[in-house]
Amino acid sequence: MYLDKIEIHGFKSFGDAVKLNIPKGITGVIGPNGSGKSNVADAIRWVLGEQSAKSLRGSKMEDIIFAGTEKRKSLGYAEVALTIKNPDETVRIAYTEIVIKRRVYRSGESEYFINGSSCRLKDVQELFMDTGIGKDGYSIIGQGQIDRVLSSKPEERRTLFEEAAGIYKYKVRRQEAERKLEKQRENLTRLQDIIGEIE
Ligand code: ATP
Repeated sequence: MYLDKIEIHGFKSFGDAVKLNIPKGITGVIGPNGSGKSNVADAIRWVLGEQSAKSLRGSKMEDIIFAGTEKRKSLGYAEVALTIKNPDETVRIAYTEIVIKRRVYRSGESEYFINGSSCRLKDVQELFMDTGIGKDGYSIIGQGQIDRVLSSKPEERRTLFEEAAGIYKYKVRRQEAERKLEKQRENLTRLQDIIGEIE
């Protein structure tokens, strides 16, 4: 599995639609200070489901939409698409090419697509769980992240190892199942109360 292409339009400094083809091997992004290098990494994390405006270096999600310049009008939406080649089906989906797209409007409305079909954030998150390329995956190491990993608590650091070992998704599913069980227990208690009142 590898990243093949990034298409960005309206995300942060990318007022024009750009397509970045990523060749195999090592790719470096170079440019003057403030030219948008980190915005490329932000775009990748965003399309993979990043929900925190702060971790995208903004204060609200609208900040990621191209705000315009002296010569250019602002845009009404931001859109990023990642094309991932999946020849060995590392990502468990029966496609050798996966296109993940996210779009957000100034109204806050957000849309996700997997290979052109509209989907939920949860579908994107589940697709990449335990592959290392989710928004928190270890494939994208942001500025200061190494420091954060080294100074984090052992329990927090453990999440990284769980993702690499492929057990994180089972942990998440277990938590979901426990939440549902708890809800059902509460429902049962309520039902027993009602039965008690009727009897
Ligand atoms: P450095 O080398 O200093 O770390 P960089 O190349 O990584 O810089 P980025 O931090 O990716 O640069 O980009 C910063 C630029 O993005 C700034 O010029 C900022 O004005 C611009 N920018 C951020 N958000 C928006 C937005 N919503 N609309 C327009 N431009 C934006």
